[in-house]
Amino acid sequence: MGSAPRAVIDLTALRHNLERVRTLAPNSRILAVVKANAYGHGLFRIVTALGTAVDGLAVARVGEGVSLRQAGISSSIVVLEGCTDQQELNLAATNRLEMVVHNLEQIKLLQQQKLNYPVVCWLKMDTGMHRLGLPLNSALATYQELESCNSVLGKPRLMTHFANADDLADPTTKNQWQLFQTITSELDAETSCANSGAILGWPETHADWVRPGIMLYGVSPFMNGRPEDYGLQPVMSLQSQLIAINHYKKGDAIGYSGTWVCPEDMAVGVVSIGYGDGYPRHAVSGTPVLLNGQRVPLVGRVSMDMISLDLRTCPEARVGDPVTLWGADLPVEEIAEAANTIPYQLLCGVTARVDFIEEQ
Ligand SMILES: *Cc1c(COP(=O)(O)O)cnc(C)c1O
Repeated sequence: MGSAPRAVIDLTALRHNLERVRTLAPNSRILAVVKANAYGHGLFRIVTALGTAVDGLAVARVGEGVSLRQAGISSSIVVLEGCTDQQELNLAATNRLEMVVHNLEQIKLLQQQKLNYPVVCWLKMDTGMHRLGLPLNSALATYQELESCNSVLGKPRLMTHFANADDLADPTTKNQWQLFQTITSELDAETSCANSGAILGWPETHADWVRPGIMLYGVSPFMNGRPEDYGLQPVMSLQSQLIAINHYKKGDAIGYSGTWVCPEDMAVGVVSIGYGDGYPRHAVSGTPVLLNGQRVPLVGRVSMDMISLDLRTCPEARVGDPVTLWGADLPVEEIAEAANTIPYQLLCGVTARVDFIEEQ
């Protein structure tokens, strides 16, 4: 097996999570969000496993969509950021990518270009997220411009994105949903709003198409949430091995900057995983790690290739013992909290040095 870290990708868990989306949003079609290398799980692996069980895919950028086409994927693919210039629009059109249109420049591009292959467009309205999207008061006019544009295939669709759907106590989602309805009630268009937080927490917003990302990978979108609370199963398990066990004296300082000092004579283990693999450098001393299935605390700084563990509670530990950094029995949510970040960043951040292994 060697000491190289592995990310084990459980495709049965992925299919289970997709089934959860179907059950929660039975009347909506599903656009599976696979941007950023399928949240770090491997784009082709995930898209292939999802297969025809989803109604379409969403990526952030044109390049991501083109690489899916080059791999022979024929599903609908929506590009969430759309295009910025003529060349990119041509590339998108030739590859039959669907475009999100979120600004006036993109509308102009579509109007100026005579596309050989017209593109499906999703007009994105800003209902309060204040990142991408056209202002609500321009909805009717921009919709009509797109509808009458020769480069646009069929009826444009309407979408928006929620800023706070991961907070069930925040009224922002309801407000955004109401604003979105004021325009969709006037236009006979297909609609899409819901990310994972809204799929799980705001059922009234499911609309025609849901856009699950993080929940497909078995991770809770909610603060302090855990997958089992929502019937989800983690897809990624990050694993490595114990490569050394050393015995130190009370007062010995461990690792870079000596931020952790042995409170007594004790054994300290070293695991082959570090920020060079995507384990978060800001994980604090005390962050849990599973050694032989037992929780032990990380101690000292995370370095590029290694971390250290307090072995006082496992005298039976041996070099070569298996270690899990996150996975089914140690939620990535908990590691994210210990590193002052979110699970999304940890999943996306697993580096190319890690071996990926699929479990069917
Ligand atoms: C990333 C993204 C999603 C998916 O969000 P999750 O929180 O991962 O479910 C949906 N819609 C848009 C526009 C996105 O950018």
